[in-house]
Amino acid sequence: MNTLAPLVAAGAASSFMAWAVRGRSAQIFGRSVWRGPRHLPALSLTFDDGPSETTPQILDLLSEYRVPATFFQCGHNVERLPEIAREVAVRGHEIGNHSYSHPYLFLRSPAAIEIELRRAQDSIQNHTGSAPVWFRAPFGARWFGLSAAQHKLRLTGVMWSAIGYDWSRRADEVVARMAASASNGAILCLHDGRELGLNPDVRTTVETVRRLVPILLDRGYKFETIGRLICPKI
Ligand SMILES: [Zn+2]
Repeated sequence: MNTLAPLVAAGAASSFMAWAVRGRSAQIFGRSVWRGPRHLPALSLTFDDGPSETTPQILDLLSEYRVPATFFQCGHNVERLPEIAREVAVRGHEIGNHSYSHPYLFLRSPAAIEIELRRAQDSIQNHTGSAPVWFRAPFGARWFGLSAAQHKLRLTGVMWSAIGYDWSRRADEVVARMAASASNGAILCLHDGRELGLNPDVRTTVETVRRLVPILLDRGYKFETIGRLICPKI
């Protein structure tokens, strides 16, 4: 008898669960995308955790470069800064749902998960006039109950093909990492806020946008919102 078998089985089960919760291609806890088509030279810039006091600086840069992006907003931040949340929509960017209070959904009850998504959906719709169709899980962590909540609210999950670590690394590192990760259909994840932080320091993100967008434009990439990246014919 193989006495290691139960341990091996337990290890396999735990790595399967780790993938199901955090894996970018996993759809165990809800329908989800993590990249667009590989045959078109298009990619998406996405920003999580906003709006923040610094979001307008990012909007100005995107206007200067004439590129759209997708902002996954937290309902709590939308209620704190409704004018800035609305400005994101007015400038033609897409708004996604990033939960109300940015909790780990891992180990939460299905009811609590649904409340987080629904409160954010209501806040975003009330203050920006835009009803999100995309949801990005806080920390990229999904759990039981998310699939049903997404289904009720008609949300599709969005992970990423590359994340910038713009909350902890220097701008030159973030720019290099993102530029190296750019490819057809890439979904690049940056942050215009820091969870629910007041007046967060997002200078690294601003500097990354300032330097990264021209590099990618020079390489011939077209910037799309998530909606147009995933469904190019719309
Ligand atoms: Zn986040």
